[in-house]
Amino acid sequence: MSSDSVPAMAATPSPNSDAPSMTTPSTTTKQATALHFIENPEHVPADANIPDNYVSYTLKHQKSLPPVTWENFVDELNWLHVAILGLTPIIGFVGAILTPFRWQTALWSVLYYYMTGLGITAGYHRLWAHRSYNASRPLQYFLALSGAGAVEGSIRWWARGHRAHHRYTDTDLDPYNAHKGLWWSHIGWMILKPRRKPGVADVSDLSKNDIVKWQHRHYLKLVFIMGIFFPTLVAGFGWGDWMGGYVYSGVLRLVFVHHSTFCVNSLAHWLGETPFDDKHTPRDHMITALVTIGEGYHNFHHQFPMDYRNAIKWYQYDPTKWFIWVCQQIGLASHLKTFPENEVRKGQLTMQLKRLRETQELLSWPSDNSHLPVISWESYQAQAKTRPLICVGGFIHDVANFLDEHPGGRHLLTKNIGKDATTAFFGGVYDHSNAAHNLLAMKRVGVLHGGSPHGLEDKMIPPSQRLRVARYNEMGASGYSSAALSDGEGLLG
Ligand SMILES: [Zn+2]
Ligand SMILES: [Zn+2]
Repeated sequence: MSSDSVPAMAATPSPNSDAPSMTTPSTTTKQATALHFIENPEHVPADANIPDNYVSYTLKHQKSLPPVTWENFVDELNWLHVAILGLTPIIGFVGAILTPFRWQTALWSVLYYYMTGLGITAGYHRLWAHRSYNASRPLQYFLALSGAGAVEGSIRWWARGHRAHHRYTDTDLDPYNAHKGLWWSHIGWMILKPRRKPGVADVSDLSKNDIVKWQHRHYLKLVFIMGIFFPTLVAGFGWGDWMGGYVYSGVLRLVFVHHSTFCVNSLAHWLGETPFDDKHTPRDHMITALVTIGEGYHNFHHQFPMDYRNAIKWYQYDPTKWFIWVCQQIGLASHLKTFPENEVRKGQLTMQLKRLRETQELLSWPSDNSHLPVISWESYQAQAKTRPLICVGGFIHDVANFLDEHPGGRHLLTKNIGKDATTAFFGGVYDHSNAAHNLLAMKRVGVLHGGSPHGLEDKMIPPSQRLRVARYNEMGASGYSSAALSDGEGLLG
């Protein structure tokens, strides 16, 4: 099958609705790469030809800078980032001491915090890094400008690092590898020179986006305009608070946006629960969501990164999701992606079962048939003369330490010693509770030869063991038999 005979695939919706169609089949055939399923065979993505063992190979063979120590610390600093991240809090806090805080400026600072924060969360992150929805040109310009006001690098640079973060999570190819500690993932990775190049990640879609290119080209100008001048001008022309606009809406707001969004890399990989998967560090926590404009449901996000939501429950705090949804309602956004509910719930169930299994393994369980001696009826009766043995449901139980504990009184037990008390136990005298049955099973010391008559299995299995969490290789008939995997129809070849 040659590439020019392949019908155009249903293309992943492009983040820019006006992007040139990526589905046009080309007559050019490229050799060596399997390009049949790539939308535009003219273009080879950055990661098209990487080896299958890319991660281990790169970690082993690629040069990395030496570990940072107290001796080399100063030489390893990235001074530009140190200046941006170090001077802004100093200017901001000193400025705040000297400048009165007017309510109009306070309101504007909070509003501009959300605007520039959304530039990162709804723009840089969910739109450009993850393509979780399509945005119209006006919305893209708004996000590119407000994102520049957050001063976190250009869209292209940011999204490239973030795609590497998702692909190589918790490895040294992840620029903000959470295994290197909270400090590193929050800010250390920026104020120190990167120890190695982030793992390869394709951003060719962004290289084709004219708004992303425009922002990258004019980035330095945009940073000053959107980071400082614009918030200052609004407060200055709006209500005459030039200094307050500069200090609070410009500088201090920037400090808050920085640390708020940095928390997605640090706090969101450190604090909270893992309701969808626990293979990697990302976690869900409401506090992280509150400080990151809704990016705190990070365990969900790493499992379903193309989903435009981070929070899936209506009551969870995810203003970024609400913003994207409102944009869709007013026609500025479209093609909001959501992961199939069925698969999301599978992830949750897997984690719930895993936790139940842990609880199950912490408890003590009765011995089963294969671990108990088989005793004949005669032997049972003989042994019952020297110790208090009672037969229920085909098992022999030693009730020596229970005679005085029995709620119905000692006499009901002693009169059944050496006898079959199955009927009495299951309702003949008293229909025992599930807890009583579970406790009885713990007193098993043998199995009666011949066991219990057929049909009494239900009475032999204590209630606590009728539903169990079992691994696939512990189940008798697994769904993964060789027959189920055979490719009789030739679908795979
Ligand atoms: Zn993450
Ligand atoms: Zn992400």
